[in-house]
Amino acid sequence: MNFNGWLNDRLAKTRESGLYRTLRTMNTAPSPEMYVDGQKYIVFSSNNYLGLANDSRLILAAEKALHEFGVGSSGSRLTTGNTQWHQNLEKRFADFKQTESALLFSSGYLANIGVLTSLPEKGDVIFSDQLNHASIIDGCRLSQADTVIYNHVDMEDLEKKLKETNSSRRRFIVTDGVFSMDGTIAPLDKIMSLAQRYHAFVIVDDAHATGVLGENGRGTSEFFHVFPDVVISTLSKAVGTEGGVVSGSKVFIDFLRNHARTFIFQTALSPSICAASYTALEIIEHSKEKRQQLLIKAKRIKTSLQEMGYTVKGDHTPIIPVLIGDAHKAVIFAKRLQEKGIYAPAIRPPTVPIGESRIRLTVTADHSLKEIDYLLHAFKLIGKELNMIK
Ligand SMILES: *Cc1c(COP(=O)(O)O)cnc(C)c1O
Repeated sequence: MNFNGWLNDRLAKTRESGLYRTLRTMNTAPSPEMYVDGQKYIVFSSNNYLGLANDSRLILAAEKALHEFGVGSSGSRLTTGNTQWHQNLEKRFADFKQTESALLFSSGYLANIGVLTSLPEKGDVIFSDQLNHASIIDGCRLSQADTVIYNHVDMEDLEKKLKETNSSRRRFIVTDGVFSMDGTIAPLDKIMSLAQRYHAFVIVDDAHATGVLGENGRGTSEFFHVFPDVVISTLSKAVGTEGGVVSGSKVFIDFLRNHARTFIFQTALSPSICAASYTALEIIEHSKEKRQQLLIKAKRIKTSLQEMGYTVKGDHTPIIPVLIGDAHKAVIFAKRLQEKGIYAPAIRPPTVPIGESRIRLTVTADHSLKEIDYLLHAFKLIGKELNMIK
């Protein structure tokens, strides 16, 4: 069979099912107003919650480290890639998360894979929320342990499933802290109680909560005042840079350093990225007002849309999923937003269940009230035009 012909056939099927993806090119640095493919948009789909991705203090920190250490780290952490900046950042991150220790990975994705493939052993059981991020799903698939999926944030279902498994097996509960497509906050207090009752360990993926939730932005553990066994974070969202970090006890981090293959066999992050991340953490701890502003803006969007008659999913986070329902309609809605200069994606199956297609909005602390009002006005016009609201 012809190689390209075979792949063209497969891609045709992808297109038929409406799942074909293409890239858009950002022509400007991350900010609420950006040029995308040469056209100006107000962007309501970025993870740059605190506006740090283009912050001059982070750029300066990265620049200094660039001149001192060069561009690439040129080795894994265990060979020649480890610098003072990697160590400084790990120590700083552990302080930030108030854990004994922390370990850097090249991304949050790889951190999840690293933890889930090294920590649970054959014979163990991982209890995973139905809406967990793809990187957790992949980690479970690659793990030697068995996976049991429980209904989204459904504590009764989780308890039932914990009860059903043989108590002699080691158990792990793994959950997103803030769910990326639904904006739900995992009930970590209840998960911790269940974990205690059924002798399970708790792993939290705090990608969307780090920098955002809790008085000092430490994430879901600070929000609920609990200490899970394992917290996985990404530096690529509110922190504004890139990389994944796992935080926990000293012995756990030592274990990961020796057993997590995505740590051992990966080239270390660029020292300049680590320096920028370090500066970002300093800023985040002193950004209480900015965090408050961020959540006030999220609430303004959410309640205004609800008043208009929209169904908005999720808890009080910067992720605001507006339910449209039909996949085709969601695509038209996103297109109409784009025509009005608003960049916000339609999320369709299989990312979300059939009939639950949505426009997923995210807000950042840097969005102006004028930009937010413009968004709300557009939702009013388009909603009426498509007979979705009165
Ligand atoms: C974005 C995200 C990740 C992946 O983090 P990267 O650093 O981008 O690889 C993992 N988990 C969740 C819940 C996320 O939202």
